[in-house]
Amino acid sequence: MASAQTATVVCPFCETLNRVDLARIEQHPKCGKCGKPIRLDRPIAISDASFERVTTDSTVPVVVDFYADWCGPCKIMAPLLDDVARRRAGQILVTKLDTDRNPAAGTRFGVRGIPTLIAFRDGKEVARRVGAVPPAELEAFLNSI
Ligand SMILES: [Zn+2]
Repeated sequence: MASAQTATVVCPFCETLNRVDLARIEQHPKCGKCGKPIRLDRPIAISDASFERVTTDSTVPVVVDFYADWCGPCKIMAPLLDDVARRRAGQILVTKLDTDRNPAAGTRFGVRGIPTLIAFRDGKEVARRVGAVPPAELEAFLNSI
């Protein structure tokens, strides 16, 4: 595992895209523009604008949680995904996309119901789960990507 693992993430403060060395996340990477810390141990909010870069420009799988604030099953999934982001920080990039504010990405990938989880490698969909999934099934999904 000599090659560097990197991911492109959105700064939650200024929305600048930052390339992050995943081997160094323990050292708490900071945003190149505003200098604030970028946390990778929780799902990172992405948007239609950043979707392409974040899902493509990463050496590790990127999981996108298509959700909405009014969606009950999404609220059930949220703590599970928080947990995944923490446990698999540096191995899988967990992101979340508010489908109300960002309708384009969901339309492009034919997302008809939420929550929908889509896993990407190099910008290509490699797996998908629709609806709230129990922890064991979520784990199996993550192990398959
Ligand atoms: Zn920033």
